[in-house]
Amino acid sequence: MTLVPEPGAAAAAAPDVAAAPDATAAPDAVDLIMAKRDGRVLTDGDIRWLIDAYTGGRVADEQMSAMSMAIFFRGLQPAELRTWTDAMIASGQRLDLSSVPAPTVDKHSTGGVGDKVSLILAPLVASCGAAVPQLSGRGLGHTGGTLDKLEAIPGWRAGLSAREFVHLLSTVGCVICAAGADLAPADRKLYALRDVTGTVESIPLIASSIMSKKIAEGTQSLVLDVKVGSGAFMRELDRARELARTMVRLGTESGVRTTALLTSMDTPLGRAVGNAVEVAEAVGVLSGTGPADLVTVTLELAREMLSLAGIEADPAVALADGSALAKWREMIAGQDGDPDAALPAAAHSLLVRAPESGWLRRLDALAVGTAAWRLGAGRARKEDPVSAAAGVICLAKPGERVQDGQPLLELRADDAARFGRAVEALDGGIEIGEQQPVLGPAVIERIA
Ligand code: URA
Repeated sequence: MTLVPEPGAAAAAAPDVAAAPDATAAPDAVDLIMAKRDGRVLTDGDIRWLIDAYTGGRVADEQMSAMSMAIFFRGLQPAELRTWTDAMIASGQRLDLSSVPAPTVDKHSTGGVGDKVSLILAPLVASCGAAVPQLSGRGLGHTGGTLDKLEAIPGWRAGLSAREFVHLLSTVGCVICAAGADLAPADRKLYALRDVTGTVESIPLIASSIMSKKIAEGTQSLVLDVKVGSGAFMRELDRARELARTMVRLGTESGVRTTALLTSMDTPLGRAVGNAVEVAEAVGVLSGTGPADLVTVTLELAREMLSLAGIEADPAVALADGSALAKWREMIAGQDGDPDAALPAAAHSLLVRAPESGWLRRLDALAVGTAAWRLGAGRARKEDPVSAAAGVICLAKPGERVQDGQPLLELRADDAARFGRAVEALDGGIEIGEQQPVLGPAVIERIA
């Protein structure tokens, strides 16, 4: 496997604004900010220059902040967005997976509470004959990160060289590992800036951020799991749909077969929220037992991935006959993890009980995700450590009848002092009533 420089990336020496001699010279960042502020369309050259100069430190953070805010309000036209995304890809290196013998297909989730689908999906889809290259991230805030979850497994290693990555992809058929610093570095810098300037929630900026990394990863096909609901980035269906359509268009235009499923994130997916607890639940699904909502979403995404990869196989069979579980063991062992090792256990636990009898009408994803985060399962700043053992087990889910005093949640932590603030996070997040709730579907819509 080789890391291939994006054509033009290395060679494109940054134009020097101050020394610009004539009309073909580099644009000026202030002019571009004012143009976008006033609703004008940026040219391809403007955008490529801006991203390159920002990555190289020749456009200042405060100027890119102003540009991000202008885009937040004015948006980007489809052609501008395509160039913006291309320029972010060209800021780094693009993986070459052409030596991998099977069709490559990945999945990206916009992030949710209890979302351990990647852990199951990668070995499941690989066991059906596809190669799943998954460059993943760590969690921030109330949503967990796939790498944090896998790091709960003793010995498991997130950092792989490009050579190891392609070797494992070609032999085992699935790899989940950390993205290198040279994968869309412009996005790394811009995302950190957006995080502190109130410009994260812009559809073109989110779409280009996600898709630049996924396209640079080199996969032939991609399925997007766009979460909708209280625990998701996109709380409203219309915005989630718009984000999904934007990303599908970007992927398709870049030659990556791309589709999206909109899936529900009003309540945690499955019953476990945390790191080790989510690994345990994922292994349960791979062993043929697991919560219905988690199994449904996983199988729908697997079918979508296999269809894009042109493979006719029933993933439900691979779950039932043990082949997906065998592939999981290979995947974990391939990255030095011990699939048989005991997972870390928390020193303390606390039960949260139902205050009355009735139907559990709501168990809010954001509230549970925040509680798990405060228990130590997540981080507030990207440098913070996470606890492998901390988390929440949902002992009841919406749509179930509960009795007064029955345990609804089990909170787990390394330090009992964390329980107080975690319980506070649940305030208003649990609703019990006389009326049986009507639950929406786990998979809401497909966008192609
Ligand atoms: N995830 C990303 O990678 N980028 C965004 O902008 C939002 C979520």
